[in-house]
Amino acid sequence: KSFADIGVMTQLCEACDKLGFKAPTEIQRDAIPWALQGRDVIGLAQTGSGKTAAFALPILQALWENPSPLFACVMAPTRELAFQIAETFEALGSAIGARCAVVVGGMDMIAQQIALSRKPHVVVCTPGRLQDHLENTKGFSLRTLKYLVMDEADRLLDLDFGPKIDQILKVIPRERNTFLFSATMTTKVAKLQRASLTNPVKVEV
Ligand code: AMP
Repeated sequence: KSFADIGVMTQLCEACDKLGFKAPTEIQRDAIPWALQGRDVIGLAQTGSGKTAAFALPILQALWENPSPLFACVMAPTRELAFQIAETFEALGSAIGARCAVVVGGMDMIAQQIALSRKPHVVVCTPGRLQDHLENTKGFSLRTLKYLVMDEADRLLDLDFGPKIDQILKVIPRERNTFLFSATMTTKVAKLQRASLTNPVKVEV
């Protein structure tokens, strides 16, 4: 199966091709059609499976269909992962003019405030710093958010980001699409899943 076969639009198929993605990986093949249908998705997949494009492609396609600022937020456990995710969004999304900002701990708050004031389409963050901006950055909110991704949810919870995530969930729209990716399904991940996803499809590779 090709990316077009699983419903990916032409411009994004071309972007995949440019990156050398010849065909969807297993997680992409299984998750993308559900995500494009508007379903919430739980993806049980490791790093290296292609999970980033599995959530980035449907989000970018939805953004193209209905562009709006602060469209998607991706939470990641570490700075390094956040930058990698942003790189994938930028590589795939440049074809459709998607703009991305990274908001992570240990880096300049003011520069991030400026980036957020430009109303990017996608915010990739670590939860602590995002919560800090939600509380302290004037004019910034996620009230227009359409997509939320929790990547490496097991690690997010192991790093004790649970309380921050709970706070963030309170200030974003209930009516949204949510994708949760995790290498393992633990008790804590299951609890987060119940608190944040609606009638999700589970995809395991
Ligand atoms: P990830 O699991 O998202 O961290 O992706 C792992 C690596 O696989 C990254 O270097 C991606 O660029 C690459 N990748 C993702 N999807 C594909 C694909 N369909 N074909 C080939 N490589 C891919």
